[in-house]
Amino acid sequence: MRKKSRKYIFVIGGVMSGVGKGIATSAIGKILQAKGFEVNPIKIDPYLNVDAGTMNPTEHGEVFVLDSGLETDQDMGNYERFLNLNLKPDDYITSGMVYRHVIEKERNLGYKGKCVEAIPHITDEILRRIHRAAENNGSEISLIEIGGTVGDYQNIMFIEAARVLKLRHHSDVLFILVTYLPIPDKIGEMKTRPTQTAVRMLNSYGVQPDVLIARSETPLDRKRKEKIAVSCNVPVENVISAPDVESIYDVPVNFERDHLGDIVLRSLNLKSRVRRDGLLPWRQFVSRVRGASEELKIAVVGKYFDTGDFVLSDAYLSVIEAVKYSAYKLGKKPSLTWINSKLYESGEKNISELAGFHGVIVPGGFGESGIEGKLAAIRFARENKIPYLGLCYGMQLAVIEFARHVALIPGATTSEIEAEAEHPVINILPEQRKKLSEGDYGGSMRLGACPARLKLGTLAYRAYGRETISERHRHRYEINPKYVEELERAGLIFSGLSPDGALAEIAELPRTAHPFFLGTQFHPEFLARPLNPHPLFSAFLKAAVKRRDSPRLPARRSLTPAALVN
Ligand code: GLN
Repeated sequence: MRKKSRKYIFVIGGVMSGVGKGIATSAIGKILQAKGFEVNPIKIDPYLNVDAGTMNPTEHGEVFVLDSGLETDQDMGNYERFLNLNLKPDDYITSGMVYRHVIEKERNLGYKGKCVEAIPHITDEILRRIHRAAENNGSEISLIEIGGTVGDYQNIMFIEAARVLKLRHHSDVLFILVTYLPIPDKIGEMKTRPTQTAVRMLNSYGVQPDVLIARSETPLDRKRKEKIAVSCNVPVENVISAPDVESIYDVPVNFERDHLGDIVLRSLNLKSRVRRDGLLPWRQFVSRVRGASEELKIAVVGKYFDTGDFVLSDAYLSVIEAVKYSAYKLGKKPSLTWINSKLYESGEKNISELAGFHGVIVPGGFGESGIEGKLAAIRFARENKIPYLGLCYGMQLAVIEFARHVALIPGATTSEIEAEAEHPVINILPEQRKKLSEGDYGGSMRLGACPARLKLGTLAYRAYGRETISERHRHRYEINPKYVEELERAGLIFSGLSPDGALAEIAELPRTAHPFFLGTQFHPEFLARPLNPHPLFSAFLKAAVKRRDSPRLPARRSLTPAALVN
């Protein structure tokens, strides 16, 4: 049997950044999956960072961790969620990775005395990585998103590599340009000129887009489509209208209104393999999103400042999505309120406002600032029996709060903020101590998927419904084993442990003490999927629904330690 040729779809952005290239790529993948094809998405980030681990999430967005532990861009999270895949390290490419490899190879005489140049050595390395990812995934269609915008200096090598691939495998390579059509207020009319210019620029690199996804506030009319088609040299049906939508989950459904799936397949000489509507489960999910009515009010307490024009929610994208999926499954509409914990410290905000929420989350974080405010929020949630979910730092701080106010360990803290603390109930992991002393920060945390065993009868066990789990990590500190017994005696349950029993992965309060108070050392949010919500988020939100539906008790400030756990 003749080996089927692999197909490659490149997604490139035109006009400006931030118009939803990552979601467009995820949606194209979803549609192709629904037509019966295996797709492997690849994200190319043109920056020189080797991975996203050292980047500040309030500038660049969330660092998304893969099973392997690779720290990547938030778009990888979008792909995983839309396509229900667990991506591999090969599926992520940065300029830093490519250049590092080429330079190291040169140092090792890997180029046998040749002059090493951007073209062809960098472009060859890019293509080698794209082919390797396709090969290792065994998929038929590689969907490659090139980060940045046409006209950037940084992504030129990637576009050049794509051009070369097209030259070699003409009918197997497709270019999709995600562009933007502004409607300036004063003019009130949709303008096509920036798109024409973007296409011209792409042409100057030797690349002609096959399909244009035209993002705009409103749908494109026939006239605009025709104008773009003629000026940009594409068939009119290949201009896809992509107006703003209420939720990102509408995007695949919307693209299909303009038959994007069939256009892509036809251009690649492929045919749909399914007769039924492969998008049906997705459509059902979308209608659940629309149908959700009663509001669930969740407070997310963190430290947020100096965000400039950055979209704050991007820093916690996976947490937001995880809450949504579980809420929609329960038929509820999540309403997240971002609370800057520092405002509790300064007194600008009163902690008792938390009584008005159905649940409180303290997400992951680093460093000292805002810590006392977060601890106050956790204490308030514990004492007032507000469902609480702590994610990584949110778990560590919950343990500190419990140690201070229930186990009565004075000055209990984490060695992250006080290296020589008398009672470091949270302490640095032994290997991390070594790495930090050597100034080795990149990729040096405890990263990626690790198994844990759950204790029968606990909240965690009831949520997962099984004894062994695997979750993704990103941390340097851990619950100090020296304090485990003392904390247990005071009533804290370590309901999840690493298989060797050495590391506590989940801490929770018994149901007799609190309706839902649980923190995880790992980041469950990385594994939440639209059609497969995460069990811990679902358990947390079920408790939030109970709080919502039951008559409210007046908020209490401080209880005696014994009353908290009995
Ligand atoms: N700062 C903590 C640690 O390094 C928690 C990390 C996190 O929340 N991702 O262990």
